[in-house]
Amino acid sequence: MTPPLKNLAGKVALITGASSGIGAAAARVFTREGARVVLVARREDRLQTLVKELRTAGADASYCTADVQSAPDMQRAVAHTLNTHGRLDAAFNNAGAAAAKTPLHLMDDATYDLIMDTNVRGVWNCLRPQISAMLTTGGGAIVNTSSVAGLVATSVAAPYIAAKHAVIGLTKVAAVEYAPHHIRVNAIAPGLTRSEMVQDWFTRHPAQEAKSKASSPQNRMAEPEEIAEAAAWLCTDHASFITGTTLTIDGGATTW
Ligand code: NDP
Repeated sequence: MTPPLKNLAGKVALITGASSGIGAAAARVFTREGARVVLVARREDRLQTLVKELRTAGADASYCTADVQSAPDMQRAVAHTLNTHGRLDAAFNNAGAAAAKTPLHLMDDATYDLIMDTNVRGVWNCLRPQISAMLTTGGGAIVNTSSVAGLVATSVAAPYIAAKHAVIGLTKVAAVEYAPHHIRVNAIAPGLTRSEMVQDWFTRHPAQEAKSKASSPQNRMAEPEEIAEAAAWLCTDHASFITGTTLTIDGGATTW
């Protein structure tokens, strides 16, 4: 049997939000494709367990605990990557947070700050040291996690909608600025995906589960692996002419 292609062989990738959901799935997909990975999140026990699993499967994986809201933390995570591997070729800026559904006029400032600081400042804090690192080695590929909430608005999630729209704006400007330096920057816009974030929400609002699934023509939510596969592909050389775009992965939910 022909061995599977290793589309990220030789590449070093940093993945944020790797302690669960889409980011943990991405750690498995990126390493399956041959990447050496550095996993970033705040929950060290989760990262330790995942790194152990990946190493047992033969992968080169390490972790760096960091809060994406902190610029020094993300500088430290990129420095860890450079110290460990000498380079950074790919980054999946995927850490994010959502808030309880609340009408805009009742949403409090602390919630707004948390959602913007995690989802927007978080990507901002990632981009600057990552781009600096990639400039020294002649290029790279970055994927930022937006959402269908970055493309269309739904009610009672104002800060999250604004934040995910901003992620697409940051993606576009970084793509334009660094295209001459061979750095590609894209976003993904997942639809409803089975993860802790979503399970928590369904636990609090059980009636929403069937309704949410029905929002997709496929009448289901995505598995985290289905989102991770797209992020990994965008980091491969197969996507060499794709930059500044947002890839929607929603089972058709924003189509009808
Ligand atoms: P999870 O809740 O499973 O994962 C969120 C991840 O983000 C965790 O690894 C968490 O790690 C990390 N994280 C959160 N805040 C921070 C922080 N301040 N610093 C570092 N890491 C942080 O949810 P998903 O996998 O679903 O979410 C991944 C991304 O996908 C998010 O950006 C989300 O907005 C987006 N998304 C999700 C959709 C869905 O339906 N699930 C749909 C569209 C987009 P830790 O707590 O250990 O720090």
